[in-house]
Amino acid sequence: MTLLSLKNVSKHFDSTPAVAEVSLNVERGEFFGLLGPSGCGKTTTLRMIAGLEKPDSGTIEFDGQDITNLSPERRGFGMVFQNYALFPHLNVFENVAFGLRARHKPKAEIAQRVTSALELVQLPDYEKRRVDELSGGQQQRVAIARAVAIEPALLLFDEPLSNLDVALREETRGELRELVNRLGLTAVYVTHDQEEAFALCDRISVMMGGRILQTGKPRELYEHPAKISVARFLGRNNLIRVMRLSSSKSTLGEFKTLQGDHMLRLPIPHDELAPMNKPCFLAIRPEHLLITRSGARSENVLPARVRELNFAGATSSIKLDANGLQLEALVLQPDGLAIGDTCFATLPPERLLLLKND
Ligand code: ADP
Ligand code: MG
Repeated sequence: MTLLSLKNVSKHFDSTPAVAEVSLNVERGEFFGLLGPSGCGKTTTLRMIAGLEKPDSGTIEFDGQDITNLSPERRGFGMVFQNYALFPHLNVFENVAFGLRARHKPKAEIAQRVTSALELVQLPDYEKRRVDELSGGQQQRVAIARAVAIEPALLLFDEPLSNLDVALREETRGELRELVNRLGLTAVYVTHDQEEAFALCDRISVMMGGRILQTGKPRELYEHPAKISVARFLGRNNLIRVMRLSSSKSTLGEFKTLQGDHMLRLPIPHDELAPMNKPCFLAIRPEHLLITRSGARSENVLPARVRELNFAGATSSIKLDANGLQLEALVLQPDGLAIGDTCFATLPPERLLLLKND
C-alpha cells in the first residue's frame, strides 16, 4: 500500500531547476532510496517531503492526504542529516528528548522513550554524556535515536553515513537497516553512494539533473539499466557503441561495433529500441564476459589482447583491447594470463543489453 506519493513535483531556485517533475510512490514499510550524483536534487526532494521546502508545482500525499502545504511539525517525520545537527551544549538525553519535549510529552514518557531509543542504537548509559565527547559514529547514532524517539510515521535520511570512515559506515549501515526493519518503519534514504543504496534499499530511484531516470529494485537497476546515463552512473559497465545492421531479423539483432569492427548478435525484444543504421549502445557487465585462452573467431567471440591485469582479492580485473575496442572483464582466476597475451572474450547474447538513448 502506498504511504508516500509525489506527483510531478518541481522546484526552482532562482533560475536553477533543482527538481523537475518528480513522481514516486513509497510503500508502507519500504526502505526507499534516492540515488544520484551531487547536485542532482536529492536533498531538495527530501526537504520537500519533510515540508522544509515548498514545491513550485506538483503535490505530495501521505497516507492518502494531500500534505503539500502542511508545516514540517504537523507532518511529524523523523530526519537524520549528514552533519548530525545535534545540539553540542546539550547532553545525549536532552538531544534525544528534543522532539518529545517539543511535542509536550509527559516527563515519564520522555524518559522511557529516550532510554529505549538509546538502547536501540546501542548507546545505553550514554544519557549524561556531552555529545561533543562522542565519536562521529556515536553522534550519528544519537541523531538516529532522536529521529526514532518520536516514533515517526516516516524516517528521512540525508546521506547520514557519509562523514563516517569506511568500516564504521558499513557497520552502522547494517544496524540502521536492522533497526528500521525491527520497528517496521518506512524510510526514504538519500545517498550518492551506489553500494550503500544497493545494500540498504528495497527500491531505488536513480536521479540525475533533477529528474528520476529509473526506479526499481537494486538488482533490476544493476542488470537492466534502462538508459545510457543510468548504466554509466551505476558504473563498471562495458558500453559498446554499435550500429544495427538492416539485414537483421526483427527478433535477432545484428550489430557492428564502431570500434574494432566486430559483429555482435543479441535477441531484440522491442524493435523500436534499436533503429537501423543509427549508432546506439550495448552494455555488458565485466563479470559477464567469458575469457578463454583459445577460441574460434565467430559472432560474440572477440579475439583480444591483455592490456592490464589488476588483482583485487577474490576477483581480478582484466582490461582488454579487441582490435581497438576496449573491454573490461572481472574473473575469479586470471588463468595464467599476462599482459600482452592474446585471449578470447565471449559476450553472451543474453547478457548484452541494448540501451535507450537518453
Ligand atoms: P543533492 O542533494 O542531490 O546534491 P540538492 O538538492 O542539494 O542536490 O541541489 C540541487 C540543485 O539545487 C543544485 O544545483 C543546487 O546548487 C541547487 N540548490 C539547492 N538548494 C539551494 C538553495 N537553497 N538555493 C539555491 N540553489 C539551491
Ligand atoms: Mg544533498
